[in-house]
Amino acid sequence: MLLKSINPNSGEVVREYPEYQWEEIDNIIRSVDASFHSWKKTKLDYRIGKIKALAKLLDIKKEGLSFTISVEMGKPINESRAEIEKCIWVCNYYCDNIEQFLQNQYIKTEATESYVSQQPLGVILAIMPWNFPFWQVFRFAVPALLAGNTAVLKHASNVPGCSLAIENLFLEADFPDDIFRSVLATNTKVERMIANKRIKAITLTGSTKAGQAVAQTAGKYLKKSVLELGGSDPYIILNDANIPEAVDICVKGRLLNTGQSCIGAKRFIITEKVYDEFESLFVEKMMAAKIGDPFDENNQLGPLARGYIREDLLSQVNKSISKGAQLLCGGKFIETPGFFFPATVLSNVLPGQPAYSQELFGPVASLIKAKDENVAIQIANDTTFGLGAAIFTSDIEKAKYIAENEIEAGCCFVNDFVRSDPRLPFGGIKESGYGRELSMYGLQEFVNIKTIYIK
Ligand code: NAP
Repeated sequence: MLLKSINPNSGEVVREYPEYQWEEIDNIIRSVDASFHSWKKTKLDYRIGKIKALAKLLDIKKEGLSFTISVEMGKPINESRAEIEKCIWVCNYYCDNIEQFLQNQYIKTEATESYVSQQPLGVILAIMPWNFPFWQVFRFAVPALLAGNTAVLKHASNVPGCSLAIENLFLEADFPDDIFRSVLATNTKVERMIANKRIKAITLTGSTKAGQAVAQTAGKYLKKSVLELGGSDPYIILNDANIPEAVDICVKGRLLNTGQSCIGAKRFIITEKVYDEFESLFVEKMMAAKIGDPFDENNQLGPLARGYIREDLLSQVNKSISKGAQLLCGGKFIETPGFFFPATVLSNVLPGQPAYSQELFGPVASLIKAKDENVAIQIANDTTFGLGAAIFTSDIEKAKYIAENEIEAGCCFVNDFVRSDPRLPFGGIKESGYGRELSMYGLQEFVNIKTIYIK
């Protein structure tokens, strides 16, 4: 089996990589486990030094790495650069805070001394998606490695170049051998990798379907897992919102990464009074988004990453239209060799349509009219997903109440679009998964929270 790196801008195969055979995969896992036993004993300062070297290298190689991302998955080049910068940020953030996060926590009991110590678990298997091919890996790997774990990456099959480039960075940053290794494999190899006794925990970022498969296998072997899955984030626009500002932010939130983001703004739920104003401005801004070659810095949208994503998206749009949605712009393939799909807006989105209930992984926005605030909240929660959400209003106290108490999601932003930040925990509820990444909470997912009690 060959893993193909296909340039989504042209549809041409850039390179083919043979999938690793089982012997090779087992050897990698064995080596990474062997390295764990020495890595976990290194001083924290030593590990911080390595991550700092990694951050420096990311900075030095930013242009080349951004090129690799854009060629393999089609992201506009400026967004690829921003992705590498975010990886540098996560390195620096954890280097600055890890000592405090890993400190023993002393708790008063009847004992002479009782405290909590955080210890690494071992080899963590990371199964990652192509949409942020560096960021998703770094946001997991940096805290996990600083805590003393080692890692094996099974990246998405369409980004083998990114996968090997990341592995190489760890080597070039002078990490000891086999602290971080990549395995080039398709998803059919995941089950047996999870079963390997040397794998101690699993983190998956991907679709809900992949999450269900991984959770099942992880459950069978009783291994800890963190699942960062799909989403259909609702953005609620209330009567008292600043509509032009909300429209700017909502368009940005929908089009980031050519719409292929788990926390992309996907369903826009607008109260009746401001609906028309929002719709006309929103459509105007979506139509103005320039689409084309990801290496042309004037383009806001590139191609979709894979041919089948474009087919699936078109089918979801057409099914929604056949069930009553109205197409306000876009909605058709752009006839070029690459996998281009224009910014698209659907209105009159109602229950029973894919645009209402499914994740639309591309630049397609669903507009939903709500009678009032309460109905808007009800529609926002009428989803199997629970990743992010946003509310637009000038009443901050009301927004805080709704965000905290009413919205079913892992995060809720007020008057801004949802994004991940190394300082804040990130993750979902419901079918968007479980566990958290980033901040202190992310670090704690892959440590043994160990109680020490001295009589
Ligand atoms: P995907 O098809 O689920 O793939 C993600 C990873 O899981 C890939 O490495 C894939 O390997 C593997 N995989 C797929 N099916 C599997 C199975 N049955 N068992 C084990 N592993 C399996 O998702 P994608 O198309 O790459 O990414 C898009 C999805 O990821 C969207 O739903 C998006 O919302 C979600 N996502 C979530 C977050 C988050 O933080 N919550 C972030 C980004 C993306 P192959 O490539 O070999 O199939």
